[in-house]
Amino acid sequence: MYSVIQTAKDFGVDVQWAVARRKEYLNQKIGELKNEQSQVLQAFSGNNELNRFLLLDSMRILDKEIKKYESDLNFKNSRNDNRITQNDIERAKQFSLENLLQNIRNGKAHCVSGNHMDKHPSMSIKNNFAYCYSCGWHGDVIDVYMKINSVGFVTAVKTLKPL
Ligand SMILES: [Zn+2]
Repeated sequence: MYSVIQTAKDFGVDVQWAVARRKEYLNQKIGELKNEQSQVLQAFSGNNELNRFLLLDSMRILDKEIKKYESDLNFKNSRNDNRITQNDIERAKQFSLENLLQNIRNGKAHCVSGNHMDKHPSMSIKNNFAYCYSCGWHGDVIDVYMKINSVGFVTAVKTLKPL
């Protein structure tokens, strides 16, 4: 579906129209396949061992095909969503660790690695970089954000916008 949108843009064709055409086609295909499934079901039903085998096999293949069309139909324009630039990364790195970790005292904070208890803060914060003297975990503000929020790199970069 992404390529449909991109192609429509490249050709200067109305994107909504192009997507509607594609969806129409996919829905038609899904309808045909489901129809085929019910026909197969009728043809091979019964107690015969071979029939049961053929039935299951056909159902499996048809299910797979239907899923393929359905996933295309419920597309997410994920490639666009996940696009981050080097600029975004550089900007995210400007976000201050002081604003991310609330309890920094004398340049020390509780370790975020989750590897150990950290009763006496052993993670040193310097130049917007964190280093734990207990377990050795270290990272920049993006790494710290990923760790404390259990999110991936792209989400972290998108979320971290300097105040
Ligand atoms: Zn640590």
